[in-house]
Amino acid sequence: MENIFSKTSKQEETPLLSQYDDLKENYYKIFIEAAESIRKEIDEFHPENPCTGCTKKCNVEKKDIFSDYPVGCAYKEWQAKSLSFLNGEYKQKLQNHYKLIMDKKNEYSCNKCGDCCRLAVSEHSYEQLKQKAFRGDKYSKDFISVFVPYESEEEAKKANPEYFAQLADLVESKTYYYYCQKLKGNECSDYENRPDICKDFPHNPLKLLPSKCSYNAWKNEILHSAMLLNAKVDIIEFYKQKLG
Ligand code: SF4
Ligand code: SF4
Repeated sequence: MENIFSKTSKQEETPLLSQYDDLKENYYKIFIEAAESIRKEIDEFHPENPCTGCTKKCNVEKKDIFSDYPVGCAYKEWQAKSLSFLNGEYKQKLQNHYKLIMDKKNEYSCNKCGDCCRLAVSEHSYEQLKQKAFRGDKYSKDFISVFVPYESEEEAKKANPEYFAQLADLVESKTYYYYCQKLKGNECSDYENRPDICKDFPHNPLKLLPSKCSYNAWKNEILHSAMLLNAKVDIIEFYKQKLG
């Protein structure tokens, strides 16, 4: 299932910050909050006075989690324990955090405005999506089972000028616009058979939604929590790259 960890959706790969320009300052503070909280967790494994009596004569001046320590050094064990914690217990914590956010979504329901069916975007062309679906990508398979491309950007713009303008502002790379042929008026004409991407929408709390979407209320409620989670996911990826 597509989620905050995979960071793909109908607005695939659109970075958080470009979607929330007005929240950049908040995100900076949240990022610091996330980094501090991870550092505290990692510090739990910090060895006590590891250099006392050590005969290794290392040249490490700054003894932080990312430094290059010699084999057998207690700091190296700290790094290994931290990595194992981030890949195991901490990853589970983040998944629980994500589940809480998504469970909260169940308190809201779709108002059936049809806007997410009328205008969807992807960084992939229809041909690329077909190839991805052919290679077994479930999201692409679901997507092309209902969405077809607009003939032109002008046509897409007419479908929802406000949402089109917001999306065009956010996405820097080439973007393709789609609509669902099963939408009749504001109603889904094949609701019982709609694919999972429709049932699960919105899949990611950090994606831009059409202004009429009732899930904007959910987004507003969980935004800080979702941004904190997003920052933590990014930070632990950095830790894993450095320590792995
Ligand atoms: S299948 Fe139905 S719910 Fe899904 S995008 Fe089409 S009209 Fe919307
Ligand atoms: S945009 Fe939101 S409220 Fe409107 S149909 Fe889609 S999920 Fe429902």
